Amino acid sequence: KEEVNIISGALDLRKKKVCDVMTKLKDCFMLPINSVLDFETMSEIVKSGYSRIPVYEGARGNIITVLFIKDLAFVDPDDNTPLRTLCQYYQNPCNFVFEDVTLDVMLKQFKEGHKGHMAFVQRIEEGDGDPVYETVGLVTLEDVIEEMIQAEIVDE
Ligand code: ADP
Repeated sequence: KEEVNIISGALDLRKKKVCDVMTKLKDCFMLPINSVLDFETMSEIVKSGYSRIPVYEGARGNIITVLFIKDLAFVDPDDNTPLRTLCQYYQNPCNFVFEDVTLDVMLKQFKEGHKGHMAFVQRIEEGDGDPVYETVGLVTLEDVIEEMIQAEIVDE
């Protein structure tokens, strides 16, 4: 029974798009680049429970880098380190993907690994002038695997 579910889930990956399974931008836990890594901010990060935090400049849609929780290992909250300093040191790249990419293609990209297991989902807004890219959410390997096994993965 479970095997049948997984097989049908795997076949359905071609029918589903990243925008169907992403976490919407408004629900993402993110930090502005001008944050200070004081005790309060670091507590909030730990409390959020996420291992990767998108970092934005200005508007939330303008994601410029990602903070990994492991990057905080040598940060002392008493130093009030600017997040910008840490981000400039690590320079973790962001991976962008269009919202209509199908989950089989997304899975293949995540498997290749070199761009990490998180991607920011972009929509093209066609206006009068040049098309503008709008970030609408994020998708991780876990979101794709949940579709494949057709079950929620309960986080640790
Ligand atoms: P983590 O390792 O942080 O638990 P996962 O890759 O296991 O992240 O993803 C678990 C779920 O949390 C997925 O649905 C993913 O879209 C979502 N997610 C991951 N990072 C964030 C974040 N910073 N803010 C909101 N949701 C997130």
